[in-house]
Amino acid sequence: MYGADVSNQDSRSKASISVWGGEERYLLDRATQVPVVHSVAFGYPDFDEWYDVATGKAEGHIYGRNTNPTVAVFEEKCRLLEGGDAATSASTGMAAISNMLHALLRPESRVVSVKDTYGGTSLLFTEFLPAFGIECDLIDTTDTEATIAAVQKGCDLLYLETPTNPTLKVLDLPRLIEAGHSAGAIVVVDNTFATPINQLPLELGADLVVHSATKFLGGHADALGGVVIGDADLVKKVFQYREINGATLDPMAAYLLLRGMKTLDLRVKRQAENAMAVATFLEGHDRVTQVNYPGLLSHPQHALAEAQMSGYGGMLSFAIEGGLDKVKEFLPHLQMAHLAANLGAVETTVGPPATTSHVECTPEERAALGIPEGLVRYSAGIEDTAELLADLARALDQ
Ligand SMILES: *Cc1c(COP(=O)(O)O)cnc(C)c1O
Repeated sequence: MYGADVSNQDSRSKASISVWGGEERYLLDRATQVPVVHSVAFGYPDFDEWYDVATGKAEGHIYGRNTNPTVAVFEEKCRLLEGGDAATSASTGMAAISNMLHALLRPESRVVSVKDTYGGTSLLFTEFLPAFGIECDLIDTTDTEATIAAVQKGCDLLYLETPTNPTLKVLDLPRLIEAGHSAGAIVVVDNTFATPINQLPLELGADLVVHSATKFLGGHADALGGVVIGDADLVKKVFQYREINGATLDPMAAYLLLRGMKTLDLRVKRQAENAMAVATFLEGHDRVTQVNYPGLLSHPQHALAEAQMSGYGGMLSFAIEGGLDKVKEFLPHLQMAHLAANLGAVETTVGPPATTSHVECTPEERAALGIPEGLVRYSAGIEDTAELLADLARALDQ
């Protein structure tokens, strides 16, 4: 865990924080880059010093399941980017989310969330948490009034995610956060899709932000990781549970994520430019029946996205004529896109929700979530815009 005793006010731009943030303290022997500390334990010849670190009276590291210098830099960079009081990491995004929920909820706690959360998160709400006697009420994603009504029935934790996967619905963060706080709930936002470059939920009042760092933060599809950022007391509880639960971020993964994060601002802005160009192109294409991108004027919550986001992100989805059969034919014709269950990387990555985010659902369940079988999720990379459009045009014509 990193923070609590440090300021969350960093006046530098996100571009500068993504390059410099959090690194100074661990640069060794005049190195300009953060070391990967592959040490399970940290030695203390002086017993009193060891005791002070072990009991939290002095700063330092004891054992790698608890804290590690490379991992601490990752946490601190994330903390500065989101503007939180504290941050703690986990081995994956799902580890961060499930550790957070298990640390903060108790039997008879009541969670309110929406139907369109990430597939794994949704399974926690529908299967795993109810088995511990936790009530999870999942509301239609864009029905703000119904969500507020559910919160007013009593709510210990309000869990939000926006924009959503894979239909890019946008939740009204200011109104929902306020409703959550009026009911005394902890408000958590999964900011994976937006990234701190485009959206700052803590600034809008949320208590905690969670990320799958695997996606945009790392950005290179070569390391898994997760992080929880926000209120110091809540983050401490999550950290203490994760220390024991053991879903620790590996130092090598932390290093890869840190290296990726140096270009976060550059990448995310380029990805948003490409996503906007692709969405606009697809909207005008006669084989495309639906395009979901918050940056389009045709998006039902475009005004809301404009109000609470500073960019619309690199994710979009679209449906083509002919359903899943046509999607199966179309996707392999793309030359400049991985067909894979990932997103947020420098390479454009595509996949149907039927094999990615909503693989656990039946076609009927997907339909109920407003996910047509012919939908394609498109994660724009940082390639040349004109070449991406040409690739799509050629594949759609074949
Ligand atoms: C991928 C993802 C997760 C889960 O992250 P992992 O690192 O794969 O465990 C959670 N939320 C969102 C929005 C995601 O896209």
